Amino acid sequence: MGISKKPNRTRIAPTPSGFLHPGNALSFCLSYLFARKFSIPLFLRIDDLDAKRLRTEYLDDIFFTLDWLQIQPDEGPGSVQEFQNSFSQSGRLKLYDEALQSLVSQGRTFICDCTRSEIQRRTGSNRYDGYCRSRGLKAKKEIAVRADIVSDGKENDWSKEIPYPILLKKDGKPAYHLASVVDDENFEVDLIVRGLDLYFSSLFQADLCVVLGYTAQKTRFVHHPILVDKDGKKLSKSNQSSQWNRTRSEKKKIFDLISKILGKESGKEDHLDQFPKDFDQGIFDGTGKISRINY
Ligand SMILES: [Zn+2]
Repeated sequence: MGISKKPNRTRIAPTPSGFLHPGNALSFCLSYLFARKFSIPLFLRIDDLDAKRLRTEYLDDIFFTLDWLQIQPDEGPGSVQEFQNSFSQSGRLKLYDEALQSLVSQGRTFICDCTRSEIQRRTGSNRYDGYCRSRGLKAKKEIAVRADIVSDGKENDWSKEIPYPILLKKDGKPAYHLASVVDDENFEVDLIVRGLDLYFSSLFQADLCVVLGYTAQKTRFVHHPILVDKDGKKLSKSNQSSQWNRTRSEKKKIFDLISKILGKESGKEDHLDQFPKDFDQGIFDGTGKISRINY
């Protein structure tokens, strides 16, 4: 996934469904460094479709974290209020629906009424087995729509990992994959820097863009190592019950990890602009690179 042509724009896309954790901070920093490397704008997108988990303090936490890291996105909301007034995903529901209708009309969706426990009972896992694919259920309220798209046997087949991803959730809201590719197309984002845990999501999203006829099919993805705790578990919002302390020493810890990822000595950087601009993006490509780092 080498990057030969200069991209248009990159983004960070946090979700206000919990307090951020060091893994989010790492992702923000690396996105910033990539934007600076290519001299392209960094866009702040906040994914707020999950209204049930959204809390204003989580929105505050996003801006607080960016300030703490001294990252000023070039585009997107500059405050919670500006986000709520002009950038909420609820203002783009029409775009998501148009994309969904395009997929429906191409026969690339099916309706699914399975519950999590039914899937668990049938498969012994959380991986969906395509049970409803041939059932021909009719669309109605409170029923999910899944993508009828399979990976075409390429290496790194995403369809084994995340089979038939949900596009429209039971609550009638667009699911993450759909909203994300529609937003990236709409905002002309074509460089995405994210954790390796989303590797298969990236592959699916690239295929989804092809079906939607998006220019985003030329999107470049960069996957960085994920941060794990002492038990080897990925840091996540769900095990982040309270606000993580944004101290100077925590920032130093993140910056030292960035040095490690970039293959340089840990330094005295106290601002991201002090990192080399021209790092080798090859360190993020392919397999056999650092995939997990203890935090
Ligand atoms: Zn089903």
